Amino acid sequence: MDAEALKQYIRDVPDFPKDGILFRDITPLLLEPKAMHGAAEALASPYRDLGIERVLGIESRGFLFGAPVAQQLGAGLVLVRKDGKLPWNTHRVRYELEYGVDTVEMHVDAVEEGQRVLIVDDLIATGGTAAATLELAHKAGAEVVACAFLIELAALGGRQQLDVPVHAVLEY
Ligand code: AMP
Repeated sequence: MDAEALKQYIRDVPDFPKDGILFRDITPLLLEPKAMHGAAEALASPYRDLGIERVLGIESRGFLFGAPVAQQLGAGLVLVRKDGKLPWNTHRVRYELEYGVDTVEMHVDAVEEGQRVLIVDDLIATGGTAAATLELAHKAGAEVVACAFLIELAALGGRQQLDVPVHAVLEY
């Protein structure tokens, strides 16, 4: 399935989770195996020959795409989670939200110094979450090859926050 055809499986939900936000709902895509396969292919294909050793999936929808991408690339999957969810020792990065702060964490033994990693999430909006994850990867000594997203909300300029190559399958 070609990338643009995936858009028919993204549902637009106005005013969720609050007024003024147009939520891009990926759950219809999860219902369609061919679309999921196409999405994972499109996310993974630019990185097939780039020696990716770890894929960092960002909680929680980033896990859904990170897992098949890691499989396709023959890489290990790392869970990047919000504060307090991971059981083992973690690296942590705090970052600013529109209102308040949040924290991303990953296990200290999930990425080794110098490993080549790809960061994956379903969607980039302001780029705050991905920028914090990038900082987390650098804290662990990783070499971040790129960040890949299924969806980019281009008007928000999130990719400008990331000083590594950024790839988005679908742009809105
Ligand atoms: P940001 O840190 O602003 O780039 O936000 C990225 C995270 O928030 C992603 O993990 C998305 O899953 C979620 N997100 C932000 N805006 C939207 C939106 N309009 N529709 C769906 N998910 C969104």
